[in-house]
Amino acid sequence: MVAELSAELQFLPGIGPKRSETLQRELGLRTWEDLLYFFPYKHIDRSRLYRTTELTADMPFVQIKGQFAGFEQMGEGRKKRLVGHFTDGKGWVDCVWFAGIKYILRTVRLHTDYIIFGKPAVFNGRINIGHPDIDSPDTLMLGKMSMQPYYHTTERMKKEGLSSRSMERFMTTLLKTLHASYGPTMGISETLPGYLVDRLRLVSLSVALQNVHYPQTADDLSQATYRLKFEELFYVQLAVLRYARFRQGTVKGHVFSRVGDNFNEFYRNRLPFQLTEAQKRVIREMHSDMQSGHQMNRLVQGDVGSGKTMVALMAMLLATDNGYQACIMAPTEILAEQHLATFRQMLGDMDIHVELLTGTVRGRKRQMVLQGLKEGKVDILVGTHAVIEDNVEFCNLGLVVIDEQHRFGVAQRARLWDKNIIPPHVMVMTATPIPRTLAMTLYGDLDVSVIDQLPPGRKPVKTTHMYDNDPDLLYRGINQQIQQGRQVYMVYPLVKESEKLDLKNVEEAYVHLQKVFPAYRLSMVHGQMKPQEKEAEMQKFIKGETQIMVATTVIEVGVNVPNASVMIIQNAERFGLSQLHQLRGRVGRGADQSYCVLVTKYELARETRRRIDIMTETNDGFEIAEADLRFRGPGDLEGTQQSGMAFDLKLANLARDGQIVQLARDTATWILDADPQLTATDNAILVQRLRHLKRDQMDWSSIS
Ligand code: ADP
Ligand code: MG
Repeated sequence: MVAELSAELQFLPGIGPKRSETLQRELGLRTWEDLLYFFPYKHIDRSRLYRTTELTADMPFVQIKGQFAGFEQMGEGRKKRLVGHFTDGKGWVDCVWFAGIKYILRTVRLHTDYIIFGKPAVFNGRINIGHPDIDSPDTLMLGKMSMQPYYHTTERMKKEGLSSRSMERFMTTLLKTLHASYGPTMGISETLPGYLVDRLRLVSLSVALQNVHYPQTADDLSQATYRLKFEELFYVQLAVLRYARFRQGTVKGHVFSRVGDNFNEFYRNRLPFQLTEAQKRVIREMHSDMQSGHQMNRLVQGDVGSGKTMVALMAMLLATDNGYQACIMAPTEILAEQHLATFRQMLGDMDIHVELLTGTVRGRKRQMVLQGLKEGKVDILVGTHAVIEDNVEFCNLGLVVIDEQHRFGVAQRARLWDKNIIPPHVMVMTATPIPRTLAMTLYGDLDVSVIDQLPPGRKPVKTTHMYDNDPDLLYRGINQQIQQGRQVYMVYPLVKESEKLDLKNVEEAYVHLQKVFPAYRLSMVHGQMKPQEKEAEMQKFIKGETQIMVATTVIEVGVNVPNASVMIIQNAERFGLSQLHQLRGRVGRGADQSYCVLVTKYELARETRRRIDIMTETNDGFEIAEADLRFRGPGDLEGTQQSGMAFDLKLANLARDGQIVQLARDTATWILDADPQLTATDNAILVQRLRHLKRDQMDWSSIS
């Protein structure tokens, strides 16, 4: 038999056609190589043998060497079980099975050496081990096993008798077969240039692949995973940076060379405040991009309230000065309407035509807007994702701003490219700061600007934590603030499973609060309302006609009412950190001291308490984003699924492996600096590998 990594799994001894079909369907494994790259999710140290006499119920998994002295079947019906009396000569332990009894009786022999492995527990005062693994002491395959790998399996696999142990057996067969044919290298060729392996003191790929499954020691394992994680992250960085350089070198962009009347008039005469130094710097950075002749792709990160909208408006004015149209997309209608109102008010009687396009702009009005866009009469378009529909045609679109970016998918962003022959400049503004490692990976091909300064005179929001058992205290605080002319948000969580329940929360609260505060007027906004109703309620609050805004998280993103100084978040335990930070960012926008109150139930899980603590300790969005990433992992962070994660990290974890991300980035940078086209003989392997990896991935080139 020829041992080949590209061979199909059915040809690996012990697998056969039926199981190979299951492995393909359930785990997507088709070839020997696929199996080799199916990594265990954990290892258990099996280097130590325990004695029956030292077992206690709070031990983790243990293994004992000994023999079965007898089996007993007990109980009836659902309580039916098999008990095996196991002894190591010093004492006894019961092994218990509730299923697979026949199999055990058929295969396990009495008075024969076995190693059993499982978690001790206490039942009726006796130590037992439920469903232990049973191995004969000489089954250990590649030398002496001390760290046992555990593999994920699915329900379907289990039904067909494929367990983690089965996977382990297949893996052993695979490694043994490869060893027999090729010796220690197992026929696996290196996927990193030799100079890199040497310089970074990495273990070779063949050693890594063997040790990631069967390490002798914990150190072997960590060297193996380090090497594999590095490689994963390195190729992502190499792809991203190479693409960024390619784009900078080739994709043409509109040239906004003029700083004209619109920009100057606005800057000199209309701007209601001084720009912060950070805002000025970011505007300069964008301007220099936009006159470079290349397409701009810039991510603007700024904490909530740092004044991103103004930066966007000024960039759009530059576009109009150069004869181009600009458009800004917001994730919600409320936000789009708010931008429209802000822009119109700030621009005053300047000769700039701003229009709105959202799902609710219909009929004649819509026709007029579409017509105006096509004819170039509309200078700035504000909208939701309605603006990227096919029937929206621009005359000469030069700049697109995507506000609060994470709600837009890659595909949606890519469609912008079709709106003009030369792609428009793209500015992406994030709602929440993104941790560095995540940004480097997700948006590694974008240039990044950071607005790292808040407008002057802002007092940091004071955040406190309260339990929900003392509403009167809370109401007194609210009352005090409203008496001083301030306004208050009261936010309730969105319950995804039950939108009805949501509504109930908010509506009940609304009715209740009306009773508590008969002298005040309340607004209410939730997801089930029609856009017009939402907008009307919002407007009342913005104009100060209502004092309390009762809302679900539809209020979360971007809403700006500077006179509101209190944010009360009910059931704060149900929110993620970034979301809490976003909500808190709704206050603290005026010059007054603002407050955020996190109301929770009394019983809190440790992690939840930690989250609340972080919120009360810091106002720094970057710090919070880091903490969020650590808590939840990148997969769960809002938006990562759709935000352009065009690759699949098997081992590396962006939250925990920040240092490796940085190393990968630095390494890719110096390699490209030294050999931009990757033409050196040593680097041929890099090009080959990128091509190989790209096969399974999305096309980077259309991601803005
Ligand atoms: P975000 O970055 O969260 O989108 P916004 O753009 O909504 O923040 O700005 C928040 C508030 O700060 C708005 O009321 C805006 O008018 C105000 N603002 C922006 N820049 C400045 C500045 N340089 N000085 C004073 N206030 C500013
Ligand atoms: Mg904003």
